[in-house]
Amino acid sequence: MVKVQNTDVYILVVDDTLTNREVMARILSRKKYQYKLIANGEEALVAVSQRLPDLILLDISMPGMDGFEVCEHLKADERTRNIPVMFISALDETEDKVRAFQVGGVDYITKPFKIEEVLARVETQIMLAMQRKEILALSELKDQLIRTVSHDLKNPLHVIMGYAALLMDGGYTTSPDDVQSMSKHIYNSAERMYSLVTNLLELSQIEDGVSFELSPLSLTRLCQDMMPEFEMIAQAKHHTLTVELPTTDIIVNGDTMRLGQVLSNLVSNACKYTPENGHVRLSVAQHNQTVHLCVEDNGLGIPKEAIPQLFNKFYRVNSVEHRAVEGTGLGLSIVKAIIEQHHGKIEVESELNKGSKFTVSLPIMSDN
Ligand code: ATP
Ligand code: MG
Repeated sequence: MVKVQNTDVYILVVDDTLTNREVMARILSRKKYQYKLIANGEEALVAVSQRLPDLILLDISMPGMDGFEVCEHLKADERTRNIPVMFISALDETEDKVRAFQVGGVDYITKPFKIEEVLARVETQIMLAMQRKEILALSELKDQLIRTVSHDLKNPLHVIMGYAALLMDGGYTTSPDDVQSMSKHIYNSAERMYSLVTNLLELSQIEDGVSFELSPLSLTRLCQDMMPEFEMIAQAKHHTLTVELPTTDIIVNGDTMRLGQVLSNLVSNACKYTPENGHVRLSVAQHNQTVHLCVEDNGLGIPKEAIPQLFNKFYRVNSVEHRAVEGTGLGLSIVKAIIEQHHGKIEVESELNKGSKFTVSLPIMSDN
């Protein structure tokens, strides 16, 4: 979850009394919030339209448009409806409080301000607003996930149903060759669906940190143990595979199976997205207390504008050459989630039609 810094929070203070605005400014700057001071209701609406605040502290009695009216305007507008409004009033009257909540206010503070109380209430509202934003973002992600998954499952399902219908159709006479070719299409489509479902389940488990068993392991040895797998993948496309490992063990606190998945995904990508007879290089090297694991290729490369999206779920580069290769677009999301669980990071350098280099950095375990 992203931690919100006070310096990123923008609060609008609306009060017609200069002293009150100044007191509030002192209170908010103590916690390093960004804020803007406004003296009346009309100007407040203009300020909100210029920059949406995360919270509004709104005085009730002001000449001209009062606080209640300002709040009603904000609640009537789609763009400003969700900004939390906290009312400020000199009076501690029940009637005012009830009206404040009726027009959509989330809280109420009375003057004279008690610094600790104001800060506690502001912090609570900011936290709630951030949580609401996070929930909305998650809900959007969930919708996108459902759309993508159903789209990616629908295509292979149509293929399976189409061929199965042909095989079931009594009027269609099929030669053994036809049956074999149709079965192959059915199998390939089912395999695509299986990879998608397995990868999705895997990713959700990894993101939840489920089934991680961290213990000291040698990255050098893990690479050596996986060499037969890498050689097989590389040979399938006649790539030259170069491996440069340190002569000593490099120990990290890791999960063998999960780090194996990282290596497997990166080497498999390097081989998949490199035309036949290419070069793939795997290297492990120590830099102070960090180990760098690099997988480099001289293949298709990645366009600059695609790099920021590369680790997003389901993202695949949209070029004919990249799309000609089968994939679910989940491999790198899995890699990133695993690396994050290991307190490491992954970086990419790439040039279109020249090749790509993925570098994973992991903290090395100290001897003591
Ligand atoms: P999967 O890993 O599930 O088989 P995938 O390979 O499409 O599917 P990712 O591994 O997440 O998914 O990679 C996302 C996209 O990034 C790929 O579709 C490809 O377009 C691009 N990509 C990844 N690695 C490379 C690489 N070494 N060279 C060029 N493009 C790459
Ligand atoms: Mg992949």
